[in-house]
Amino acid sequence: MAVLQRLSHAAGRLNAAPASVNAASQVAEVLQSVRRSEHSEPPCWVFLGPPGVGKGTYSSRIAEIMGVPHIAAGDLVRNEIGLQTSVGLQAAAKVRNGELLSDTLMFQLLQNRLDRGRRQGESGFLLDGFPRTLAQAQTLTLFSDVHLAVNLHVRKEVLIEKCLGRRVCSHCRKNYNVANINIPASASQPAIQMPPLEAPPECQPFLETRSDDNLVTVQRRLEVYQEEAQPVENFFKREGLLLDFEITAGIPQTLPRLQAALQPYHWDAHISAQAGEAAMHA
Ligand SMILES: [Zn+2]
Repeated sequence: MAVLQRLSHAAGRLNAAPASVNAASQVAEVLQSVRRSEHSEPPCWVFLGPPGVGKGTYSSRIAEIMGVPHIAAGDLVRNEIGLQTSVGLQAAAKVRNGELLSDTLMFQLLQNRLDRGRRQGESGFLLDGFPRTLAQAQTLTLFSDVHLAVNLHVRKEVLIEKCLGRRVCSHCRKNYNVANINIPASASQPAIQMPPLEAPPECQPFLETRSDDNLVTVQRRLEVYQEEAQPVENFFKREGLLLDFEITAGIPQTLPRLQAALQPYHWDAHISAQAGEAAMHA
């Protein structure tokens, strides 16, 4: 409606002053914005990254900023089980038997979640923890448009230190981190500063380390992740969709930097880049 009003207003000015270059360019501008809105799509992004990198935190904050649903693989399963849908019941049976969910089932869960969201006016998505395997990544690009795969990483030694520094309060179940990371910049690498996430005095006596946050398990977890994630990263790279982002500081410093890095990929820029490309090929 607003577009039509702007178009007729611009056209009216064009009629009134046929020689006016200004009015003509205004019409062109409006037509361009109409074309943009016809082709515009909200972001369909995936977030990749190893356990402990803070992927859940960053992806949910970015999703909130962009106004798209944050869909975490774990929630996908839990929500559908909670809703007792037929797919949810199938998933629940598998989870009970300790079986892995098939890709077909995962995509059915995702489809259900997206359909439900769309009925409530949602559009686009930000996937967190999915796709996990190459096969899932390939299927996802057939299942939906994917505009960007954001690959969050933290230098390995830092990630290990962060995982080992995790503490949970056995009283209120809140998570803290005692790791105090302060590595100066080298010729080839940026400085890393991640202050601890300190527990308040009332939680201090109840801090516990999870039994699987020991060096052997953490290293093994990262190896397992890397084996599975490398082909996924390579796939998105070949598709020209991978954006590598290194985390070198805490959340308050990193979030604005991540937001700035993602700005050029926001759908508006994405569409104008496509329009520019089309113009070049015309
Ligand atoms: Zn506590």
